[in-house]
Amino acid sequence: GISPYVPGKAAADDGRPLIKLSANENPLGTGDAARAAMAAGIADLATYPDPGAAKLREAIAGKYSLDPARIIYGTGSDELLHLAASAYAGPGDEVLYVRYGFSVYDIAARRVGAVPVVAPDKDYGTDVDALLALVTDRTRVVYLANPNNPTGTMTPASEIARLHAGLPGDVLFVLDQAYAEYLDDSEDDGGLALAEKASNVFVTRTFSKIHGLAAERIGWGYASAEIIDALHRIRAPFNVTTAGQQAAIAAINDNAWMERSRDHNAQWRAWLAEQVAALSNHGLRVVPSKANFLLILFEGKLTAEAALKGLMAEGYATRWLPGQGLPNALRITIGTEAQTRAVAAILRTLAEGA
Ligand code: PLP
Repeated sequence: GISPYVPGKAAADDGRPLIKLSANENPLGTGDAARAAMAAGIADLATYPDPGAAKLREAIAGKYSLDPARIIYGTGSDELLHLAASAYAGPGDEVLYVRYGFSVYDIAARRVGAVPVVAPDKDYGTDVDALLALVTDRTRVVYLANPNNPTGTMTPASEIARLHAGLPGDVLFVLDQAYAEYLDDSEDDGGLALAEKASNVFVTRTFSKIHGLAAERIGWGYASAEIIDALHRIRAPFNVTTAGQQAAIAAINDNAWMERSRDHNAQWRAWLAEQVAALSNHGLRVVPSKANFLLILFEGKLTAEAALKGLMAEGYATRWLPGQGLPNALRITIGTEAQTRAVAAILRTLAEGA
């Protein structure tokens, strides 16, 4: 059966609101340009949005030097991930992804009656050989998040190329780049360049993370004209709102906001990782992350569940993922400076008191 998606918490069990470091949102919020565009975008609420999102596609194409005709947009990248399975897999087919992959892949596969096939990880990251070993003639879609959620691990460009080269041409390779904007240029996994020339690659991105527009639900994707045509045939007709399209255009052109968000994340992710590393004598360990969160492993007296509860008691929601096979880990979004410092102090107190 299908288990529903479990969202990151924003409140304690007693209803008390919490500071939400459980859903990998932008702790700095939304840039002023996107906010202003959003506000202007609600002037005409009676008219349907542009079903072709032409101006949004032009803006994305301009920024990343892409063909606007080959860009699709969705109600979050979630919609696009689902469309990929719906268009390419059906009952009895296999959908492949790596253990500790994004939880939507399992839901998207089961929703269309396909069989989810899970490859073992390598140190919480991608094992390309393990993935390729599980490809059969029933494999229709391979999903990979890069950087990955919930682990934060990064699969380098050379490994992405090797994975693609090893896949049969009729298997759709969905490369989910929800956190790609947090990378330096030198860390690019080559996904968009691959989608530019390969006929079986679909790259997805989102406005929910660095762009600070998670509430508006906007994602986009890039693939061959044939794939984009197949996805358009089954998407909802007006799947991105007028205000959302306008806010997204402003956000993608706001380089200063993106840079500020990226720099903030890099600085405080490194700082928090150091603070956790300093608690290694208490069994705490971080998985190296290239995203806007850290996966922290609890291998000493302090358990992940106790840390979750301890952080919650101090007003912070983080993410415990026993349902995804990670009972000894917490995923913590990089917050503001004050939030990140508070989380580190709480973890130290909990670890020392355990
Ligand atoms: N892909 C990954 C790896 C994610 O972590 C998320 C959200 O957390 C998404 C996709 C979905 O994002 P959205 O639907 O908001 O674009």
